[in-house]
Amino acid sequence: MMSNSRPRKIRILGAGPAGLYAAYRLKRLFPTADVAVVEQNPPDVTFGFGVVLSAQGLQFLADDDPELVRAISGGLESWQDIEIRIGGERIRIDGIGFTAIGRVILLRLLNDKLREVGLAPIFGKAITDLSEFGDADLIVGADGANSLVRSKNELEFGTKIEMLTNWFAWFGASRPFDALTQTFKVTDSGPFNAHHYRYSPTQSTFLVETTAANFERCGLAKFSVEESRGFCEKVFADVLEGAQLVSNRSIWRQFPKITNARWSYKNMVLVGDALRTAHYSIGSGTRLALEDVQALVNAIETSQGDIPAALALYETQRRPVVEKLLDAAARSANWYEHFDQNMALAPWEFAHEYISRSGRVAPDRLASTCPEFVRRYTEWKSGK
Ligand SMILES: Cc1cc2nc3c(=O)[nH]c(=O)nc-3n(C[C@H](O)[C@H](O)[C@H](O)COP(=O)(O)OP(=O)(O)OC[C@H]3O[C@@H](n4cnc5c(N)ncnc54)[C@H](O)[C@@H]3O)c2cc1C
Repeated sequence: MMSNSRPRKIRILGAGPAGLYAAYRLKRLFPTADVAVVEQNPPDVTFGFGVVLSAQGLQFLADDDPELVRAISGGLESWQDIEIRIGGERIRIDGIGFTAIGRVILLRLLNDKLREVGLAPIFGKAITDLSEFGDADLIVGADGANSLVRSKNELEFGTKIEMLTNWFAWFGASRPFDALTQTFKVTDSGPFNAHHYRYSPTQSTFLVETTAANFERCGLAKFSVEESRGFCEKVFADVLEGAQLVSNRSIWRQFPKITNARWSYKNMVLVGDALRTAHYSIGSGTRLALEDVQALVNAIETSQGDIPAALALYETQRRPVVEKLLDAAARSANWYEHFDQNMALAPWEFAHEYISRSGRVAPDRLASTCPEFVRRYTEWKSGK
């Protein structure tokens, strides 16, 4: 039972994964409240292509939302191996197991859930001033890495933004790949890395990354999106094998590492990328965003609708879990920041460093998780 302090008006900014899920869960919790979620883009328009989303990692939702987990799981592409392509070698790392989903598909599934509780986002409306949310009892900032809720109150949230130095452009590719593939190569145009994996039977994510020095050297800042697409197609022609790169606002960007000393301020709370970003190389941002929402809604429920108490509880309970993952993400990001130097290693050593980079797979666990890879790596090492 909720106390009398239950919120009457809730406003959610952003209809990405965090905002849609927050709207659904909060409307379910407070059916008579006035809940609205506002999104600047029209329906089915989003950035990027597919994202890695672990089916196992979704199990945290299974108790609260078994149907959602089933629906998402039905839309996942899955594969077992990671493939590292470097120096003419294609090294398989077995046993990790990955799944991925198109962002548009995921957003559609979440929109379906929202409809079940009688809501639809207000699409095509960019909020520029939070006073538009007037006397809301709760404002959920689910507005992504460039959050307005956060940036309007940066001092109060204690926001820190550190830009990584590498540059990346997020393309799609018109072909599937049969593993989560990491291609590292040095061409006449310098060192490049591509993260590529399929998220549908015919389409893949194809994220291209290069170092700051090489970005400068190639003059990529002056390239249009179309020129960049053509350039990357040439760099990775052997990998694409005749397939094309597809762009979706695929501009060159640097990854912002965002953290906040405080997660809420007055009636405002941050979730998802607005709250913090986790480097894409550990493929966890979407799951973290959904987990934030779950933690927030649980805290509101536990606090019987008392919003100030709930926001404090949300942060106390969730922060330690998030910080552990952010440590792993930072180590992984740091490894990519030096990928050109790491490429001096022999291919098998490079692959071993790659899989150990975030510190999440301890050496003894590696042998049981990736037995074939460890066997071949050990063979290679002893034959040296
Ligand atoms: C290159 C790259 C690769 C990634 N790969 C993965 C991956 O493999 N796996 C994974 O789990 N995660 C990945 N991520 C991270 C993932 O995309 C994010 O963590 C996730 O989208 C966060 O969800 P969100 O709802 O918090 O924010 P977003 O998805 O960014 O949604 C925010 C929404 O708010 C809207 N909005 C913002 N401001 C306003 C405004 N003023 N008015 C109205 N609407 C507004 C935006 O239009 C957007 O729809 C990747 C990210 C990047 C950059």
